[in-house]
Amino acid sequence: MQQIDFQDVTLITPTAAMSAAVHGGRAKCLQRLIRLGMPVPTTLALSFDAVLQIAKGHLPDLAAMLDPFGPSPLLSVRPSSQDPDWGGPGAILNIGMNDESHAALSKRVGEAAATALYVRFVQSYAIHVVRLDPDVFDFPNLSDASVLRAALETFEAEADEPFPQDVSVQLSEVLRSMARAWDGTSARLLREAKGAPVDAGLGLVVQALALGVGADESGSGVIQFVSSATGQPQIIGRYLSQSQGREALNDRAGAIYLTSDPRGPALEDISPDNFAALVSYGAIARTRLREEMQIEFTLEDNVLHILDAVRIQRSSRALVQIAVALATDEVIPREEAVMRVPPNALSEMLHRQVDPSAIRDIIVRGIGASPGAATGRIVLTAAEAQASAARGEACILVRRETTPEDIRGMHAAQAVLTMRGGITSHAAVIGRGLGVPCVVGASDLTIDRKRQEIVAPGGRRFASGDTITVDGTTGTVLAGAPDMLEATLDDAFQTLLAWADDFRDIGVRANADTPADAQTASNFAAEGIGLCRTEHMFFEGDRLGVMREMIFAETADDRRVVLDRLMPMQRADFVKLFSIMDGQPVTIRLFDMPLHEFLPYDKAGQRDLAEQLAMPVSIVTDRVQALSEYNPMLGMRGVRQGIAVPEIYDMQARAIFEAVADVAGRGLPVQPEIMIPLISAMREVELIKGRIDAIAAAVQRETGVSFAFKLGVMVETPRAALRAQDIVKYASFLSFGTNDLTQMTYGLSRDDAGRFMSAYVQQGVYEEDPFHTLDLDGVGELLAIGAARGRAGRPDVVVSICGEHGGTRAAIGFCRTQKFNYVSCSPFRVPLARLSAAQLALAEQMPAGGRRATMPPISMK
Ligand code: PEP
Ligand code: MG
Repeated sequence: MQQIDFQDVTLITPTAAMSAAVHGGRAKCLQRLIRLGMPVPTTLALSFDAVLQIAKGHLPDLAAMLDPFGPSPLLSVRPSSQDPDWGGPGAILNIGMNDESHAALSKRVGEAAATALYVRFVQSYAIHVVRLDPDVFDFPNLSDASVLRAALETFEAEADEPFPQDVSVQLSEVLRSMARAWDGTSARLLREAKGAPVDAGLGLVVQALALGVGADESGSGVIQFVSSATGQPQIIGRYLSQSQGREALNDRAGAIYLTSDPRGPALEDISPDNFAALVSYGAIARTRLREEMQIEFTLEDNVLHILDAVRIQRSSRALVQIAVALATDEVIPREEAVMRVPPNALSEMLHRQVDPSAIRDIIVRGIGASPGAATGRIVLTAAEAQASAARGEACILVRRETTPEDIRGMHAAQAVLTMRGGITSHAAVIGRGLGVPCVVGASDLTIDRKRQEIVAPGGRRFASGDTITVDGTTGTVLAGAPDMLEATLDDAFQTLLAWADDFRDIGVRANADTPADAQTASNFAAEGIGLCRTEHMFFEGDRLGVMREMIFAETADDRRVVLDRLMPMQRADFVKLFSIMDGQPVTIRLFDMPLHEFLPYDKAGQRDLAEQLAMPVSIVTDRVQALSEYNPMLGMRGVRQGIAVPEIYDMQARAIFEAVADVAGRGLPVQPEIMIPLISAMREVELIKGRIDAIAAAVQRETGVSFAFKLGVMVETPRAALRAQDIVKYASFLSFGTNDLTQMTYGLSRDDAGRFMSAYVQQGVYEEDPFHTLDLDGVGELLAIGAARGRAGRPDVVVSICGEHGGTRAAIGFCRTQKFNYVSCSPFRVPLARLSAAQLALAEQMPAGGRRATMPPISMK
């Protein structure tokens, strides 16, 4: 038989040539533990190549392999994949147990203990190596001599051969089965889901067994030095006398505490020296391995052995806490702490919750599958969710269960509610991944498709469009919009982001339409508001009625009179925004919505409106018809309305300037910026600027307060990007609205593309939905052209992006390369954007191939 080269099998010593890329992370870590002076039993590492050869049937020289372990060795074999997160086959212990070693061990540690070791090995060999039925090896009392006989007889009967007594046969079969398991389809899929490359290798470590059974104090346990939930210092783990492997974690009843504890015995009491040694090893591992490790250890006749150490499992909160603590203690530099936290981990820490003191009108209960709470209008399909998001309306996607077809709708929704499924259902997994609150398995709820309603227990009905709240933390669904509490973010979170801010080189602002949004933005240290969509303010309170009256006004003067009633309301909105943002820039975008959206589209609604306005219904119907457009997204919206019906922009400009005068008049800082939407020609800006400047001058005259403001435009038509050089004559900033720009570049409807987007992505027409992932090639080119031409016309023009893409890593990366001044994104994405921006800047500074790649993969949400 062909044998593999012995250099692929390496005895782990402090100086052996060894790397995670060749031998796997576990082997490399064990070498580090040995270098740090920890008592690691003799260990051999088999390289990825060796394991690959073994899988093909080419075995190493077993006599040479066994030599370092001495006569009659007892061994364990564990997987050593490059990244421990990629998993691998389970460890196999007690290799070498046979009749002879059983007899010898019985003398040393007692017959019962020796028998248990032998039976355990027969079991795992039978099940994991020979792949016999686990049920027939399920024995109640492992230390019983009759059980050992039964195990050996069962093995022989099932395998058609006696249990192998030769340690080299046992070891070679164990190695072969573990090598082959790595090749299995499910193992492959599992590790690829965790980011492993297709050709990821498996290494194996063969280690002398530290017994964990014996006459003097013997046993095994695990210890870690911070909490996996919070990351705060705390000694956590268990120890179980007369045990092996991770049994201490499974036998909660028999295991004892590690630190002295009034509730029961502890390792610190029964073996204080070994406990102290473990604590010191933990401290050494932390500083030298630069990580919080969980250490697996064994006492054999009161002698401590360190078998293994792995990075502790950690929640997102603990991840941040640990990174910050390591940097604070100067174990790692701050740069590395910032690089260690994938931005998505922050989103789990950022959730709003229902205020505990709010009145909760519970509609139905289910399983809380993704934390946080969100309020929105009910939508029953993914397409409606996308349309709703495109209108800027918060929605809750309610589905019987979700499928991959729904992902884009889930992206668009504030929360997801399903009738079926559990904690690992599609909705639950995706919801958590997206950081979208989610309740699943609300099985008492039904959907009445015909009437477009959901029916709750007791017959309560909620129509599509009604407002509900999903509380993914408690698994409840509430009627209406209870008060919310913003996420409470701990000091480590704030510290990490403050460090990130030191490294990033692009600004981060928030898209915020309401004082609540602005407060969130400010809490997350956004450097201002990059987009306030003012049209959303017109739907609140009695403003809708005023807008409708305005639409029916006969003359410009009549319109102005009606709008004058809205002006103080808008002014109050802006005063609040300016106050909350406390001198940071606030970019207010002028009205951008087709007027017909303020009118009812159905007959009943039109009749109601006619009644309210005391006019014949025919007039209402005629006006609805007159305003309706074949393609409203390309019709009378944005600046076109500002030019055709200037009274609305005039009113808004006055409201903004009076708010500025109010705030500035009180001696408070304020930086107003007015932004004009849907520009496609320089003359549009010139006309609007003329009116706005006049209003600013008038307000300054009337109030006696002088103030400065900026006027800029949204670049969201391809023509605006192409003509940016002229447009900046009247605009001091350009903000790319990549939602409309994507729509117009592709000729794709923002509201309707969801219908065929799945087919397009599945068939590789588009790599991704361009409304979620910025199309760097096409739309990106327009951004680059627009920025360059804008700067050519006005070198100090401020350039930014404020479409939904603004907070994504890919868009931030692109905007950095184009030297944009800032990105603006939804308030909850601000921390993620700050961190992504810092990581992108740091990644650029890192020497190529220098540090271990800790950059998280690019993720869009
Ligand atoms: C855009 O078009 O990218 C944008 C930010 O504006 P809105 O989404 O309001 O059209
Ligand atoms: Mg737009």
